[in-house]
Amino acid sequence: MAEVSLKHIYKVYPNGTKAVNDFNMHIEDKEFIVFVGPSGCGKSTTLRMIAGLEDVSAGELKIGDLIVNDVEPKDRDIAMVFQNYALYPHMTVYDNIAFGLRLKKLPREEIHKRVVEAAEILGITEYLNKKPKEMSGGQRQRVALGRAIVREPKVMLLDEPLSNLDAKLRTQMRAEISKLHNRLQTTFIYVTHDQIEAMTMGTRIVVMKNGFVQQIDTPKNLYNYPENKFVASFIGTPQMNFFEGTPEREGDDVNINFADCGVRITVPYSALYKAQPKYLDGKTAVYIGLRAEDITIAEADGRAVIKVAVSHKEELGNETLVYGTIKPEGEYAEGAVSIVFKDVSGRDIKAGDVLDVALRLERLHLFDKDTEMSVLPRIPEYNYLDCEVKGGRLEFAGAELALPEACRCADGKYQLLLPTDAITPEGALKAEAADCEEINGVKLVALNIGGRRIYAVNLGAAAGKAVSFGIDFKKITLTADGESVVAPMPVENEIDCRFVKRKAVVTEEVNGKTKSRRVVRFGFEAEGAFFEASDTAVQKIFAALGIKKPLTAGFKLVCGVYDLAVAESGIAARVEGLVSYGAEKFLRCSVGGRDIYVAADKEYCGDIYLAPDFEKTGVVETERDIKII
Ligand code: ADP
Repeated sequence: MAEVSLKHIYKVYPNGTKAVNDFNMHIEDKEFIVFVGPSGCGKSTTLRMIAGLEDVSAGELKIGDLIVNDVEPKDRDIAMVFQNYALYPHMTVYDNIAFGLRLKKLPREEIHKRVVEAAEILGITEYLNKKPKEMSGGQRQRVALGRAIVREPKVMLLDEPLSNLDAKLRTQMRAEISKLHNRLQTTFIYVTHDQIEAMTMGTRIVVMKNGFVQQIDTPKNLYNYPENKFVASFIGTPQMNFFEGTPEREGDDVNINFADCGVRITVPYSALYKAQPKYLDGKTAVYIGLRAEDITIAEADGRAVIKVAVSHKEELGNETLVYGTIKPEGEYAEGAVSIVFKDVSGRDIKAGDVLDVALRLERLHLFDKDTEMSVLPRIPEYNYLDCEVKGGRLEFAGAELALPEACRCADGKYQLLLPTDAITPEGALKAEAADCEEINGVKLVALNIGGRRIYAVNLGAAAGKAVSFGIDFKKITLTADGESVVAPMPVENEIDCRFVKRKAVVTEEVNGKTKSRRVVRFGFEAEGAFFEASDTAVQKIFAALGIKKPLTAGFKLVCGVYDLAVAESGIAARVEGLVSYGAEKFLRCSVGGRDIYVAADKEYCGDIYLAPDFEKTGVVETERDIKII
């Protein structure tokens, strides 16, 4: 039993393929995690890194409390089951299962006990004396599972274990593996390309594409709240319907005009509160997603009813999947926008029928056409508000407060981008908490202020209660006509550096005599300053780049505004100005042509030196964009 944690894990194969990019996840003890995605997305590579069959290029991999990057597979306390069962053909089932335990030199009685118990759990007791070739695929996979179980691993790793089985057996084995997980109470990590397998087995699922994690969530949340169009299309059968359309807000309504078929639907604005205003301006096209079960044959009262010409159907007994095209309205005679919906009424539907179907508008998904990210994120990043600046004061939604010096700008009307995490628990503003939601550990509060709705994360508030709050001005943006007038303060600085080797002489007292010896030190060189790297940092860099490459590669240090200090010596910087946010002040400095911000308790001017806190400083290799530390 163990937790598994992956922090900034990367895998770059020697041929340059970046198979896994910045994988971050904490797997709780006893979870059943499924990695799913199309072939080549990096799921097996990630599993093989956890197993120790592939080196980790960068990042920290932990099983239990132990960092295992350099731990041999046999010492990781894991067991792995593969697609090809990898059984020894000349050994009996009993010997196959016992093999690993014999290698470990466990007492004979203990081995016998574990083999018999595993065989019982898996229902293969009667085959213990048979050879693998006398068994079916499903039975052989059970033997492979048995061999893994008897090791009593902390983590079970399964790589497409059911892919060689036929559909019926796969369904049966899926259920058995889930039961096995319940019974063993061990952490399972399971790789599959089959979304149904993922949905039916995982407590949480990691959806991957092209080496990047797309979303990590429970099966239900992935289905109901896909964060992007890829997840929306990958999860669920039949695939979600996608249409193109342009939403336009008119007061309390949003009209959505579908492209190429003349359909127009009206959605209450309250259902789209979380969308940025630009998506509702009547000019921005989006993808509209709707699942087949959210489209039904219309009863008389349906508001959003469209006409569908049926092309064919799939009868599944309890339901019918009906395929067709949206029947164009107006001048769209040639339009052929495909649609699929589910009918559970059992009525007789034939090709050529033209049916009225209703859309469940509260289940609508909208995705950005370029980024394909959801336009209705569960946790919005920003609030978009009209505001006005008058004599150094900011007015929005009926509230008013003084702007700090760093945000001063000319009087006028602006758009305020107020991040949901820039709303702080204490302050002079008042609102009513309309709604509180807990989403994957984040508390999202919807506030009513001056007839507007704004969202805040991690604000201690209860629904229906009055709340006081403030604004962290460091994070806000003010724009006029799309141009930024006040920009947020960068929270992280980047400083170009090199990884260098230096020779040094150390003198030591040995038995009362002073002795000198030459040593080699590795460290970071930035703007003339040298900072010796810790042993761990040196190891990580060599592990990621090989022996020679580190000394020629380009790096950058990434450190927060609070993690750089003015010092007697260090990185040469020139103070360009002081940025004041009231109680908090920051120096704006120039370092090698880049702007750097540093928290400062007093004013400095001219040339200064900066020292990063290496406990909190990240190191990125720039060419492959890999965060090594
Ligand atoms: P998946 O398991 O999702 O099908 P993999 O993890 O096997 O994907 O592969 C991810 C990417 O890494 C693919 O582009 C694949 O071609 C590449 N890859 C896998 N193994 C190697 C290897 N040994 N050398 C180079 N590239 C590899």
